[in-house]
Amino acid sequence: MENARNYKLIFIYEIIISKNMYKLLKFKKPVASIFAITVMAGFMSLSSVFIVKAQTIDLLLKGGHLIDAKNKIDRKMDVAITAGKVFRVATDIPASSAKKVVDVSGLIVAPGLINMHTHVYAGSKAGFTEGTSSQLPDAFAPRAGITTVVDAGTSGWRTFPDFKAKIIDNSVTRVLAFLNIASGGYSVDKAEENIAEMDVQKTVETVKKYSDILVGVRIGRYYGTEWTPFDRASEASKLLNKPLFVECHLPMYSLEDQLNKMRSGDILTHAFENVSERMTVVDEQGKVRPFVMAAQKRGVLFDVGHGGGGFWFNQAVPAFKQGLWPNSFGTDEHRTSMNSGMKTMLNVMSKYLNMGMTMPEIIARGSWNAAKSIQREDLGHLTEGSVADIAVLSVSKGKFGFVDSGNNKIEGDKKLEAELTIRAGRIIWDLNGLAANAYK
Ligand SMILES: [Zn+2]
Repeated sequence: MENARNYKLIFIYEIIISKNMYKLLKFKKPVASIFAITVMAGFMSLSSVFIVKAQTIDLLLKGGHLIDAKNKIDRKMDVAITAGKVFRVATDIPASSAKKVVDVSGLIVAPGLINMHTHVYAGSKAGFTEGTSSQLPDAFAPRAGITTVVDAGTSGWRTFPDFKAKIIDNSVTRVLAFLNIASGGYSVDKAEENIAEMDVQKTVETVKKYSDILVGVRIGRYYGTEWTPFDRASEASKLLNKPLFVECHLPMYSLEDQLNKMRSGDILTHAFENVSERMTVVDEQGKVRPFVMAAQKRGVLFDVGHGGGGFWFNQAVPAFKQGLWPNSFGTDEHRTSMNSGMKTMLNVMSKYLNMGMTMPEIIARGSWNAAKSIQREDLGHLTEGSVADIAVLSVSKGKFGFVDSGNNKIEGDKKLEAELTIRAGRIIWDLNGLAANAYK
């Protein structure tokens, strides 16, 4: 679009100069005519440079099957990338116009995946906040086709600046975050439950100050019976008009009360867990509880939030069959979950693929749906002009086992893998050297 405008401008300038040159020649002013011709020649060579530059594609993904939910694309399309952005999406873009061409035929080309539930404030302390239970974003995201991670409240208004300086500003993966209503974040200690530190105003101020990174407010660990922590987190999110992200370590609050307090657009994670600290979404007879269905109808969003204990087939399978589908595939990424049944976001997506969700439905939840839920509609699609965050995925066929948090297994014949991950036009993961030079 930008280039089309530039061509138009150059064309108009050339007409103006040609007209003036004609006038000068008509009135026999040779010096002025020579000057005008020189200017015109300069402009023409400038415009040709412009056109050549416009035609130069840095990276062309050729022959892949593009799935882009926002743009309703589910077919073979080439994707051209220039200067870190999607330059063109079309059925057949000539290879001659690109500096580098990668043959991705037989593979899925999708918007870079968004992992809605991670703990990435890694450090040397015990636990999650600046801790060893968190993971560095670049240690797991690129290899799973993920270009954006959303941290689930591992920091609060006191600790966010440190998180930003140490991790967010030093990661290739884009890191966004929910800010914990607890001032220190998900520290898993007494301090996290100190209500006096759960400051609505300071939380709102911090989210506003870092609005390019902070996407909402999180509540997720409180063992008391008072609703003050939940209500303060909810109030802050309301004041910001951003989602409230509800995690699970709230054993004294009933699930029904939590859902009743949540607004349309708020997100419940660990949706399909089966642990003592929260009521399950599916009852003992295998039916999704009516108040859970009602919450979904009202617009409350359900994130998988797999984690080490948050995903059970005896919840997820009946819920899926009865229409309680997750809106996003957050993994609750941390040191323990990544080595349990969860493994990677693609493994979680593969579980749903084998449960019967179609590929476009899965890709939508891994990209565009997630982007919309955090009000980042600049992400999760490959519209021309948008950032070139891309996942190139393969579907392996074979016999695979998928394990839940209770060590129960389903078998499947399809499994997603990330072949190529591209962040702002740069290849950050290349499983089989698709873009590498052949060794001779
Ligand atoms: Zn979590």
